[in-house]
Amino acid sequence: MYSGYMNEIKKQYLFVANNLSVDLINTEFNVRGELIDLFMSEEDVAEWLDQANIHADFAQELELKKLLEFRKKARLILTEIIDNESLDEGDIASLNDYLKNYKSHYQLEISSEGYQLNNSKTYYSTEELIGFFAFELATLLASDQWKYLKRCLNPDCVLMFVDNSRSHKRRWCSMDTCGNRAKVSKHYRKVKY
Ligand SMILES: [Zn+2]
Repeated sequence: MYSGYMNEIKKQYLFVANNLSVDLINTEFNVRGELIDLFMSEEDVAEWLDQANIHADFAQELELKKLLEFRKKARLILTEIIDNESLDEGDIASLNDYLKNYKSHYQLEISSEGYQLNNSKTYYSTEELIGFFAFELATLLASDQWKYLKRCLNPDCVLMFVDNSRSHKRRWCSMDTCGNRAKVSKHYRKVKY
């Protein structure tokens, strides 16, 4: 009974990055020095896509290994950016390879407010899905947003985000987790001294 109940509880994924390719990278995070991977199965990815509002309608099953390979590459690229290292030609070439599979799913729609271009975000294969993440990543790098790409200030946390706050002073992946922990420890320090 208990396990049945647990099965009904869906994982609540974290979308704190302001960019879906960065949120994808954030499906690996640190718990007490150990890297935890939230993507252990195709079902985990399906649930994450659902929460990310990305529609996957694969003719064949999702190829988890390919997605994880891309995620690893994406982490490497963004880590280099955060650490102020320029990307080498190999990184750019491999990102460009992924980009070849990007397929636009934008649709022109009309409403009472006028014409709108909306991304239906429906993808039909693993390659196409990865192409979308590659596009998100490349768009980030090609805009001025990359300057606001940050790693959470908690040294034990590996999560990244694009700080699109007006003051660009965001420090934590989330106020509920790392931000709150910092606030509490500051409070205790204050009490102690
Ligand atoms: Zn954090």
